[in-house]
Amino acid sequence: MSFISRGWFALGEEFLSALRWQIGKGDRVLFWADRWCSDEPLKTAFPRVYRVANNRDSTVQQCWSSEGAGGGNWQLHLRRITAEAEVTEVANLLLLIQEKVLQPEREDVLAWASNPDEPFKVKECYKWWRRESVEVTDMVDQTKWIWKRKVPLKVKIFMWLAFQDCLLTKVYRARWRPAEGMTCELCNAAPESVDHLFGQCPAVAALWGLIGAATGIHTEFHSRDEMWQLMKSYSRLGGSRLHARVLKTVIPAALWAIWLARNKRIFAGHRFYVENIWEDTMGLVAAWGRALAGAGDVRIVRGEIQVDPG
Ligand SMILES: [Zn+2]
Repeated sequence: MSFISRGWFALGEEFLSALRWQIGKGDRVLFWADRWCSDEPLKTAFPRVYRVANNRDSTVQQCWSSEGAGGGNWQLHLRRITAEAEVTEVANLLLLIQEKVLQPEREDVLAWASNPDEPFKVKECYKWWRRESVEVTDMVDQTKWIWKRKVPLKVKIFMWLAFQDCLLTKVYRARWRPAEGMTCELCNAAPESVDHLFGQCPAVAALWGLIGAATGIHTEFHSRDEMWQLMKSYSRLGGSRLHARVLKTVIPAALWAIWLARNKRIFAGHRFYVENIWEDTMGLVAAWGRALAGAGDVRIVRGEIQVDPG
């Protein structure tokens, strides 16, 4: 390689890496290729997600939907997510960009990474990005709550995606594949959103009834927000510490069991029996409970969760 070409490329790359886009309305910045929310372009930081992205040439603005709570949300337009590694990357990518919010009234500005005070104040920039709204506070609390649970990492990621409304439900998929249809395959009666599948679906209602009877907690909810209010209230329920910890795994276990049964229904044509999901849920609670409490401390007897403090 000649000195000139090597020098030019090196200089060009070094120059680019010293600059960051500060996002305003997002129409001048390429979502995947430009540096705007981390030290490297998102396509380099998250190669697996980039590989399944349908919108590789999109601007930041085109990946933002101004609909929804808190002034808008990010939409990634992914072809498919199957491998666990992809799910992890998606979750990490969303974690990275979740605090970024477009400012439609401002222009995108290219600034020195080392000196973001030029051309504007870094404090100002933080003010844009960290909206002190209820939605963001809730999101941070949910993320912390979910990450504290004694459940497998893939279940944490699954729950986190569900609470951010980024789970690959039919409604989510229909954003870029409208031809596939959105109807819930468990009840065939409503679009399959996160709120429907885990809260409103009549095919799943009996499961929540069984869980309510076994645990003595109120398990009726119609939205992620109601579910979140319920999960938050666990810490105030009293009872032994061990019992409280078991209660905290019941809803994650039920959500995970519903999701697995739903996938088997859609991708393998299995029948959907509430009794099976109930057994799966109790099995997960027992398995995760044993892992956190020591063997034999948590038992399921005739559908009742029994906790033996030992
Ligand atoms: Zn349904």
